[in-house]
Amino acid sequence: MTVRRRKTPTVWVGKVPKGGDHPVVVQSMTNTDTADIEATVGQVWALARAGSEVVRMTVNNDEAAKAVPEIKRRLADLGVDVPLVGDFHFNGHILLRKYPEMALALDKYRINPGTVGKGKQQDPNFRTMCEVAVEFGKPVRIGVNWGSLDAGLLDEMMEANAARPEPKDAHQVTLETIVESAVRSYEWALKYGLGEDKIILSAKVSNAPDLWWVYRELAKRTNAPLHLGLTEAGMGVSGIVSSTAGLVPLLIEGIGDTIRVSITPAPGEPRTKEVEVALEILQSIGLRQFTPSVASCPGCGRTTSTFFQELALQVSTRLNAQMPVWRTQYPGVENLKVAVMGCVVNGPGESKHADIGISLPGTGEAPRAPVYIDGQLAATLKGDRIAEEFMGMVEEYIQKRFGKQPA
Ligand code: SF4
Repeated sequence: MTVRRRKTPTVWVGKVPKGGDHPVVVQSMTNTDTADIEATVGQVWALARAGSEVVRMTVNNDEAAKAVPEIKRRLADLGVDVPLVGDFHFNGHILLRKYPEMALALDKYRINPGTVGKGKQQDPNFRTMCEVAVEFGKPVRIGVNWGSLDAGLLDEMMEANAARPEPKDAHQVTLETIVESAVRSYEWALKYGLGEDKIILSAKVSNAPDLWWVYRELAKRTNAPLHLGLTEAGMGVSGIVSSTAGLVPLLIEGIGDTIRVSITPAPGEPRTKEVEVALEILQSIGLRQFTPSVASCPGCGRTTSTFFQELALQVSTRLNAQMPVWRTQYPGVENLKVAVMGCVVNGPGESKHADIGISLPGTGEAPRAPVYIDGQLAATLKGDRIAEEFMGMVEEYIQKRFGKQPA
């Protein structure tokens, strides 16, 4: 298998972690009304804190456009310098010209060739957006989405297909149109003055096999960096699994320079869930390391209490909650490996493979929990405070291994 060479989209230059060779960048999108400055600043802050490295927001009207510079200022005051992408449809060419402060404040513009304008208006509107990007030195993402595919191009491709001796089915022609729309728009953007290093492409569809086909074609036909994501992935387990199934084969082939997981949050579920899933996908296939990994067994008939599930959850939750602070305080802490195991069958072995691991007593076993540090038995915990004592040992280990040593 030939692995595609990853590119670092311009919008992320300067933010690449040291030692990372073109790392895949995690992107997310707000769902607040952009005109609601306070809510949008709060959500961008939360997304960035959760690990989002680029945040997109809709810029759909005058109020949203006017709010963008203030959102950028307030985020800067909070120390949040995450790049902001403006998502434009239908009126982007008007807003970008009418509100230069907004055009300047944004770090990238998303242009959808299917919503940029109809018929004769499509080309001048697209051109205006590219020209504003050139003027302000901003990159663009040309983002095709099969839910808003360029209708004129689809008609053209369907007609050409109908004239073939053996026409392809309509679904295949639609996929080909998606790719064609992205590639043609890329060429137009170059013609209108954007450099190759200022254009990133995406072509999103909503099921995994189609996504594989579309992105493999895009990777064959263009050298542009690619933003990868399954659109309208759905909710809950289904959304997470579909996104993972869609993204992983392509990521392994080197396809995908930025990613987004477009899951629908359940009522009350935080928007940061999509970031959490994206980080997990990249971490689980070894492309990035963001948070310490916690290995825990699934439990079985040997673990009849929920104690070990609670401990595994507590350890993961605590590690994730501390990461925004630890990331700067303890460089390298994201590489930590912790094991929380349910009994003596695999517990001691798995714990020894981790940096620090605990093997809890299974049903009928002596109520003792050996803790292994760097492969050696370091302590045996007993009693009611096993959870607190183990967390104390984890934190002590982190301080010793990743904290700044006195000169
Ligand atoms: S480690 Fe023990 S409790 Fe966990 S799944 Fe294996 S046998 Fe069951």
